[in-house]
Amino acid sequence: MFDRFGRKIDYLRISVTDRCNLRCVYCIPSGGILRRPHSEILSFEEIHRIVNVAVRLGINKVRITGGEPLIRKDLHILIKSFKKINGLNEIALTTNGILLSDYTASLKNAGLDRLNISLDSLVSKRFEKITRGAGLNKVLDGIESAFSAGFKSIKINTVLIKDFNTDEILDFAALTRTRPLNVRFIEYMATASDDSPDDNLFFSCFRAKELCGKLGNLIPISEMPDGTARVYKIEGFMGTIGFISPISEPFCNTCNKLRLTSNGKLKNCLHPSKTIDLKEVLNRESADRDIAMLIREAVDLKPQSHSFASSAAKQEKENFSMCQIGG
Ligand code: SAM
Repeated sequence: MFDRFGRKIDYLRISVTDRCNLRCVYCIPSGGILRRPHSEILSFEEIHRIVNVAVRLGINKVRITGGEPLIRKDLHILIKSFKKINGLNEIALTTNGILLSDYTASLKNAGLDRLNISLDSLVSKRFEKITRGAGLNKVLDGIESAFSAGFKSIKINTVLIKDFNTDEILDFAALTRTRPLNVRFIEYMATASDDSPDDNLFFSCFRAKELCGKLGNLIPISEMPDGTARVYKIEGFMGTIGFISPISEPFCNTCNKLRLTSNGKLKNCLHPSKTIDLKEVLNRESADRDIAMLIREAVDLKPQSHSFASSAAKQEKENFSMCQIGG
């Protein structure tokens, strides 16, 4: 599928739940989010049906996210069902890693291809502060367990928060010295969370990259195309580091994504002008045809760019909580 601006849309992010076992200050409001009744949440069968249609239209990669996807029971069953869809080339998962070591084997056996683990601090006290929870060691165990289960491509996602974790940039980059890890630094995006660090805590990937240069020459990795990240290897290191700059260098002109929320809303941008309800058509006899029509509509309406800085986008922050969109 191509949109009005010639971008090929082939990637669908799927939030399987709004719920999370952490409360990251930049992601979830301290009061939590309104818990959706079970009946509003897409079942695995419904998600499978939507993905099946989406793949026929040209989607070839999906990412399972949340909330925290690993708190959704029997997630491996959904992954197994995706594996049967011809034309779906890649199934990835983004997790906070707290429950990961319990599930790495079943995820791998089900056919999960790639794992992204979110981790913003390697210091326990800070981890607790940013996540309003505990469990740094569980996340680190989860990473080891993922290696043991045979995952080849493990990414660590680290949101840069000025004066909070930016003194750990080199420690994160150093994780790639002897392990085939891909550490990716992400610029913080202001959201509706009432405890969000304010915009002054923004720290650019440009500065993070400059700092990483202290560890050695940064060699651009061109053979590892990664839609959003600029990826480098520090000379002599085993893994890679990447920089995702939605604020300082927006990558909208190469955006290939659609997002499906846990209650069946299709979003064509982090800040969409229109959200399309797929759940509504799922019970119709003509469901597949209607889903296809609505997916095409979302692609046709995909905006040229997101605009975190505009006043409209600022107003929209009130309705923008990352845990409901899936990152
Ligand atoms: N619970 C899972 C996790 O922690 O990875 C999946 C959902 S989480 C919303 C997905 C990603 O979005 C995480 O890597 C998280 O750090 C990122 N994220 C959430 N809020 C963000 C923000 N305000 N700015 C930048 N990244 C954010």
